[in-house]
Amino acid sequence: MESAVEAQLRKQIMAWVGERAEANGGFLRRDELLDFHLDGEKLPVIDYSRGIRNPASFNSTLSIVSAADGPYDDTESEDGLLHYAYRKGDPWSGDNRKLRHAMETGMPLILFRKEIANIYTPVFPVYVVDDEPENRQFLIALDEAFRFIHDPAHLSEPQREYALRLARQRLHQPAFRTRVLVAYDTRCTICELKHGALLDAAHIVPDGHELGAPTVNNGLALCKIHHAAYDQNMLGVTPDHEVRISFRLLEEIDGPMLKHGLQEMHGRALSLPRRPADRPDRDHLAWRYEHFDAAAPRTTHHRAAEQHR
Ligand SMILES: [Zn+2]
Repeated sequence: MESAVEAQLRKQIMAWVGERAEANGGFLRRDELLDFHLDGEKLPVIDYSRGIRNPASFNSTLSIVSAADGPYDDTESEDGLLHYAYRKGDPWSGDNRKLRHAMETGMPLILFRKEIANIYTPVFPVYVVDDEPENRQFLIALDEAFRFIHDPAHLSEPQREYALRLARQRLHQPAFRTRVLVAYDTRCTICELKHGALLDAAHIVPDGHELGAPTVNNGLALCKIHHAAYDQNMLGVTPDHEVRISFRLLEEIDGPMLKHGLQEMHGRALSLPRRPADRPDRDHLAWRYEHFDAAAPRTTHHRAAEQHR
């Protein structure tokens, strides 16, 4: 296939992957990816059985899958680049040849992060930036900028920091959102809204704090409005999974969003994941709830009112 045609097809495939992922809440299901059609022809975006997809008519690899069992895995490295092992067989033919061709032509790929069976978090475009035959691996960069670095295997300190930050933004945060949304059956734990496009994964203990690990038990699936309210301490969650709305907000009088979307959530119980291990960690909730409490000082009047509830 002519490379301009292939580049154009890639663009269309990536646009579709982006739209589907956006609608689902940041991920795609295996059957969706296998059932993709382009101009009436079936063109699976992932391979049926392997972690690399090389359509016969394409000269360069279309997608690769990086599997991980948890938030950290061996594909992560100190340099922020994905170290992708050579596929089985001859390093100079088949899958490896098409990956190398992607490197030589700068053709963008889709990386699918797979942490849960049948669920794929897309990251794209990514680029094959280096080939290390001695280590039998390719280096994959999560940003176009790394295509133009002379020696991607040996990044300077600022480049390395940049690569690590990008890896966090482009790979680890989306993967966290997928894990949390899937654990919560793609619904807001507070209001039960079920539109993936309107849902986020909120950290209970914030990212960056030493306890703020990107694990499902430090996450809550929240719709956009409840996520923002949570981050602004307008809304809190007690260690016993009860929703609290700040007193200031409870007193306000405004339209239906304030009334139904926020005030009426006061006292509601969270809808929790089925798997106990996925449920929010009590200590994390307690840590966060203290901050909510501290951010919303109550007047004597409010304290009295609360005692009479
Ligand atoms: Zn909500």
